[in-house]
Amino acid sequence: MNKALKIAVIPGDGIGPEVIDEGVKVLKKMTEGSDFYFEFTYFPWGCEYYAKNGKMMADDGIEQLKAFDAIYLGAVGYPGVPDHISLWDLLLKIRKEFDQYVNIRPITLLQGAPCPLQEAKRDNIDMLFIRENSEGEYAGAGDWLFRGKPEEVVLQTGVFSRKGTERIIRYAFETARKLNKSLTSISKGNALNYSMVFWDQVFEEVSREYPDVQTYSYLVDAASMFMIMQPERFEVVVTSNLFGDILTDLGAALAGGLGLAAGANINPERTYPSMFEPIHGSAPDIAGKGLANPLAAMWSASQMLDFFGYEQRGRMVLDAIEQLLTEKDTLTPDMGGSASTSEVGDRMLQLLTDML
Ligand code: ATP
Ligand code: MG
Repeated sequence: MNKALKIAVIPGDGIGPEVIDEGVKVLKKMTEGSDFYFEFTYFPWGCEYYAKNGKMMADDGIEQLKAFDAIYLGAVGYPGVPDHISLWDLLLKIRKEFDQYVNIRPITLLQGAPCPLQEAKRDNIDMLFIRENSEGEYAGAGDWLFRGKPEEVVLQTGVFSRKGTERIIRYAFETARKLNKSLTSISKGNALNYSMVFWDQVFEEVSREYPDVQTYSYLVDAASMFMIMQPERFEVVVTSNLFGDILTDLGAALAGGLGLAAGANINPERTYPSMFEPIHGSAPDIAGKGLANPLAAMWSASQMLDFFGYEQRGRMVLDAIEQLLTEKDTLTPDMGGSASTSEVGDRMLQLLTDML
């Protein structure tokens, strides 16, 4: 009996549905000749839903999603709906309710992908960023005092709990051990004298449980320089919510741009579904025109295959992306080509057919 994996698909807004269609094609393809299949259920949530119903998702949306093994999300957000609504009422709500406290972003420069660095620097861009996804600088804690008065003061508090800090760092050590790679912690203990001193201390404590893992520790400013100058220094990287947000965009620029940047929001205990999404937004400027690059959505699909334990199949999707990038005949305009979103999808299916 083949195993059913239940996927909640939230195509969302703008180019979301366009890239998700192609990603779903790839996921279906990857079940051929295997011992599992996907059951996709679509949820029409997002800004269009908001325009009709005054909310981003159904009231019992979280309850509905609980029944699934994973969530595959396109993008949410559209002009006219404030970001704090589209983001907080769907994306961040899901991340929070499902305790997806690990954000994984692969920053690997595939052959044939565009990169702003000189040829000689491109060889070893292969990092795996593990970003804290539930607290830190984005905990939403703070205060706004004496609003509008001369003595106005605004506080934004970073929240670093023992539990939250330990679990992300431990997850990173486990990952580095599994991959047999080094682990770099990126923090800022010299200036952030509470939060980052604590972070460094926890990193040091947890590292004692993993004597087999080679560790490095960088200040975030130095790390941003080294990511450009000597990207080969970094393998597995663990960092806080804010630093991870910024550095992974830098990383996306190094590894082919938004059209190739994938992300996974993981609940490692698997108590709740994890969520896989390209990191780009809804890109209203190119929506509905067949211009969107679906490769980021496909890379997220590859992460989903990894998550379910089908790493070989996940690797195959990356190999096919690499082949597509190298042959250069079927690329969307952001990569310098003239193919449409679905033409890229069709070519990917051909390449995967040859590999399977
Ligand atoms: P959000 O606020 O939802 O993050 P944003 O406006 O900040 O959205 P994106 O929508 O991610 O940013 O995209 C910025 C620009 O990059 C888009 O306007 C688009 O031109 C380009 N872009 C993003 N994703 C893709 C893609 N998959 N394929 C082609 N171009 C893209
Ligand atoms: Mg954005």
